[in-house]
Amino acid sequence: MTVKTTDFIIVGGGVHGASTAYQLAKAGHKVTLFETRYLGAGGSGRSAAGLRQHFGTEVNCLMAKYNIQQFPTLEQELDTGMDLEFRQWGYMWVAYKDSVLDQLQKNVDLQVSLDIPSEMLTPEEIHARWPYLCLDGIIGAAFCGEDGHINPQTLTLSYGHAARRHGAVIKTFCPVKKLLAENGKIKGVVTEDGEEWHADKVLLAAGAWTKELALTVGVDIPVYPERHNLLVSEPVEVFECPMVLCMDDGAYFKQCANGTFLFGRDDQDEPRDFSEGNSAKFLEGVTTSVMKRMPALRGARVVRQWSGPYDNTPDHNAIIDWTPVEGLLIDCGWSGHGLQFGPSAGFLCKQLLTGEKPFVDIHRYRLARFAENDLFFEPAFI
Ligand SMILES: Cc1cc2nc3c(=O)[nH]c(=O)nc-3n(C[C@H](O)[C@H](O)[C@H](O)COP(=O)(O)OP(=O)(O)OC[C@H]3O[C@@H](n4cnc5c(N)ncnc54)[C@H](O)[C@@H]3O)c2cc1C
Repeated sequence: MTVKTTDFIIVGGGVHGASTAYQLAKAGHKVTLFETRYLGAGGSGRSAAGLRQHFGTEVNCLMAKYNIQQFPTLEQELDTGMDLEFRQWGYMWVAYKDSVLDQLQKNVDLQVSLDIPSEMLTPEEIHARWPYLCLDGIIGAAFCGEDGHINPQTLTLSYGHAARRHGAVIKTFCPVKKLLAENGKIKGVVTEDGEEWHADKVLLAAGAWTKELALTVGVDIPVYPERHNLLVSEPVEVFECPMVLCMDDGAYFKQCANGTFLFGRDDQDEPRDFSEGNSAKFLEGVTTSVMKRMPALRGARVVRQWSGPYDNTPDHNAIIDWTPVEGLLIDCGWSGHGLQFGPSAGFLCKQLLTGEKPFVDIHRYRLARFAENDLFFEPAFI
């Protein structure tokens, strides 16, 4: 068997793998990315792609701030001719209960202390800005006008195409069968079609699939899949509706650049596996929740629905860390908020892989926190 060599191997062609490949290739490194199917086939291409700085932990806020600084010029920078459909129409978390409003206030206080322009809104202020929203029962909201959303498929593809333009090898429909390690050091990967690739540094960015791959070199990563559903409506008039999310029932909606609406809703009964089907229960639950807040959409037709896997960890926060196998870096576990961290995590992983100092302190994302029972809960997760 011929063995091929490269400087860096990336396993996983979601937004995290593709963004890291772009950062490495742009800096002149030899990088090869392996993806089982097509770029964005996992959580990334199936995401609602809301972009927000509304987090309740410092490192997530700082990373989110970096993301929002990148998005306005990213389409130009990646220069692939694809429309990223980035829109800064704002992102609002509405509250029905005092306990939820109190948490939103704490999150906003933290964000403001980090120079993120978030604000709390009263129902009267919400009504004045977006009179088409039905506010029955809503006691307040947290809002950031710099936030918004993007097209998750063109974002992931653009990172991959730009990486390729800078010399990265992007091998789609090329699943990695196992990782290779020797004497406690990473050596490379073996693909399903029997190719062996060697590199001194490997990034495992395979979303919820990271667990099974890391186990091939004896590393146990506490990440698991959780199916989440979305639906899209037919297009309606574009009225620049902000993304609206409600922690009380886990429902959210956004208007896309072409006027269609995406609806999503958390459901703890969904399977914790990689199944890609979806249910009538979702359709009924999400439309009931969203119509309560957005009655103007009554009568709009649903075009299709789909599902994808969140890559969850026990504390709903990411893992970015070196593993006990020297040279093996992990970036996974982003739960329901990982799409927007493509820019910051890609940059960070490039820094780690090339021995640079990370631009933020990532101690809280460390793998050992689970064994040490020092979990890092993100209060603003969905
Ligand atoms: C319904 C839904 C809504 C969401 N909404 C939002 C949102 O509004 N905002 C937000 O920021 N995030 C959101 N997310 C979360 C976000 O999509 C994910 O956290 C993020 O996309 C994870 O990116 P990733 O690159 O780490 O993983 P993934 O995109 O899952 O990529 C991992 C890739 O690894 C590949 N792979 C697996 N095994 C192998 C192997 N053996 N060899 C090679 N490749 C392999 C997979 O095919 C996959 O393409 C949502 C997710 C879902 C499902």
